Amino acid sequence: MAGYRRQLYRDDAVVLRVQKLGESDRIITLLTRRHGRLRAVARGIRRTTSKFGARLEPFGHVDLQLAGDPKGNHGSSLHTVSQVEGIDLYGKRFLGDYPRYTAASAIAETAERLTPVEREPSLRLFQLTVGALKALSRGEHDTTLVLDAYLLRGMALAGWAPALIACAVCGTPGRHRAFSVPAGGAVCPDCRPPGAAHPAPATIDLMSALTTGDWVIADATDTGVRRECSGLVAAHLQWHLERALRSLPLVDRGPSVAGTAPPPGGGGAAMLRPRGDVEAGADGASRERAE
Ligand SMILES: [Zn+2]
Repeated sequence: MAGYRRQLYRDDAVVLRVQKLGESDRIITLLTRRHGRLRAVARGIRRTTSKFGARLEPFGHVDLQLAGDPKGNHGSSLHTVSQVEGIDLYGKRFLGDYPRYTAASAIAETAERLTPVEREPSLRLFQLTVGALKALSRGEHDTTLVLDAYLLRGMALAGWAPALIACAVCGTPGRHRAFSVPAGGAVCPDCRPPGAAHPAPATIDLMSALTTGDWVIADATDTGVRRECSGLVAAHLQWHLERALRSLPLVDRGPSVAGTAPPPGGGGAAMLRPRGDVEAGADGASRERAE
């Protein structure tokens, strides 16, 4: 730490993950509004006298004062939390509600996966993540719909949106019946590769509605359509995350100190947890995270 001074700065953030560190500290993974994803140490948080223990639980939207180098030019990856105020502590509302808790976990895990490089600001992903947690906490829409809307829009921000209203291969407009994850979404009869799925037309419509935020259409769908949609969304996400992981070692060589950075993507090829009654996707999309 010699050779540079840690700055104090403020930002608001979503708490993505909390890990124990030693006897009484925790490492908090944060998706901040202005500084991208970063990790910070919260000292003494596990003592009963800690002022901010309850505010730094997963899924909370918090206002923070951090000590560290916001640009990460000085070698240290870890910041220190010096103050924290709760803006909206969504996590409390998901305790005891397993479907919403697992959906929130999948949102947080995906946010981390979609920000493989620390301190790379992504305002839209931050807003999307806060919005999804807020929607989950309000319970106005089915939990799986909120999660799938988040995953579809998160993929769109990453440039991985599945093609839904035109063939993924040749671009011919229309509602095509076949869907192929490796091809990039819906495909016309001419371009349909072997092994393409044939979801119900209503499933493709639901994916479109979730992407554009048409909740009237989304809320009116039945369970079977939602389940098929979840499977395709999870399969599509997993395919792209695994491809992204393979290119990551070339990218993620920022200022992180060896030994403090998590493995790229946070856990190798692990993937979203299975969600409640939702089956694994078309190619076994859902697997337990290995931790
Ligand atoms: Zn085509």
